[in-house]
Amino acid sequence: MVARRVALQTLLACALLALTGFWLYEISENPSNQLFGSTLVSGPADQRVVALTFDDGPNPPYTTAILEVLEREHVHATFFLVGRAVAAYPSIVRREVRDGDAIGNHSWSHAHLILMSPAQLSSSLARTDAAIYRATGAHTRIMRPPFGARDWLVLAQARRLGYTPVMWSVPLANDWEEPPPQTIADRIVPYVHDGAIIVLHDGNRGIVCANGHVPAKTCDRHSEIEATQLIIERLRREGYRFVTVPELLSLKGNATRTPAPGSE
Ligand SMILES: [Zn+2]
Repeated sequence: MVARRVALQTLLACALLALTGFWLYEISENPSNQLFGSTLVSGPADQRVVALTFDDGPNPPYTTAILEVLEREHVHATFFLVGRAVAAYPSIVRREVRDGDAIGNHSWSHAHLILMSPAQLSSSLARTDAAIYRATGAHTRIMRPPFGARDWLVLAQARRLGYTPVMWSVPLANDWEEPPPQTIADRIVPYVHDGAIIVLHDGNRGIVCANGHVPAKTCDRHSEIEATQLIIERLRREGYRFVTVPELLSLKGNATRTPAPGSE
C-alpha cells in the first residue's frame, strides 16, 4: 500500500516537473513575455512606424537581392547577424551599414543561449561583435537571442555587456519554410500595428553554404526577396513609415520622456 502511494507520488511529481519544464520552455521562446527581464518587443504604439528585421545572415545572393529591394524602395531595415556568416561575408555587412541599415548581434553560431555558461555566452557575443567591427569599424548595441530563447541569466548577461535585447511583435511567418512570397506577406501584413517589429530571414542560422559541403537548398531564401517587396508596398499603402530598430528605440525613448499634455 505504502509502495503504491510512493509510486503514485513519484509519478505525480514527475508529471509536475515535466509540465513546469514544458511551460518554462514555451515562455522562454514567447517573444512578448517580460518575465525574464525587459526586452524591446515593439516601438511607440501611437506612431505609424514599423521596423523590418532580417535574421540569420549575411547569406548571398539572397541578402544582396534584399538589399537591392530596400535601396530601390528607400527603406532602411535591421539585420541581426550571425558571427560565423559575418566572418565569411564581411563585404555584405559593410554594404548594409553603408546603405544606412542597422545591424544587431545574433550570436556566433546560432546556438541556444540558455544552454551556455555565462563565459560561453559572453564569448559568442564578443566574437560576433569583433567580426562586425572588423567588417565595418562599428560596434552594435542591440542583440536578438537565436530562436528568441532567453531566460533571466541570458538577458542579465546581455544587458551587462551593454546590449538591448530585441524581440518582435508580429507573429513569425514561418518564412524559413520558403512558402510563396504572397503567403509570407499575407501572414505578416494583417498583424502589423503602430510601432511593430517584423521578423524575416535572409539566412538559415548563419550557415555558410559557400563552404561547399552544405546543400544549396539549406541557404535558399529566394521567397524573401519578393516577400520584402510585397510587404513594403502593402504597408506603405497603409501609411506606415519604415524605421530601423535603433530609430524605434529612440522614438520610444522620446515618447517616454515627453511629458503628457497638461502634466509637468
Ligand atoms: Zn535566428
